Amino acid sequence: MVIVTLQREDCIGCNYCSEVAPNYFSMDDDDGKSILMESVEKRGFHTMKTHDPDAFDECSYAAESCPVNIIHTKQV
Ligand code: SF4
Repeated sequence: MVIVTLQREDCIGCNYCSEVAPNYFSMDDDDGKSILMESVEKRGFHTMKTHDPDAFDECSYAAESCPVNIIHTKQV
């Protein structure tokens, strides 16, 4: 399973994550911050769990691209 987290509050809206991982991230037209698709929010952390085999590489690329380091991925 792949687990991806986004600390959405600290997003600066640069759009990099949605450019490199458009299957998992999009931008919110209302507040300009990133949305981690299919995620559940708890105490500011938005978490997505998936068995999608492409998720780890694509979301890791998004994590590396994020200038404020608020995206994290792990495989369990
Ligand atoms: S790369 Fe980081 S700062 Fe930029 S939009 Fe995505 S989550 Fe926000």
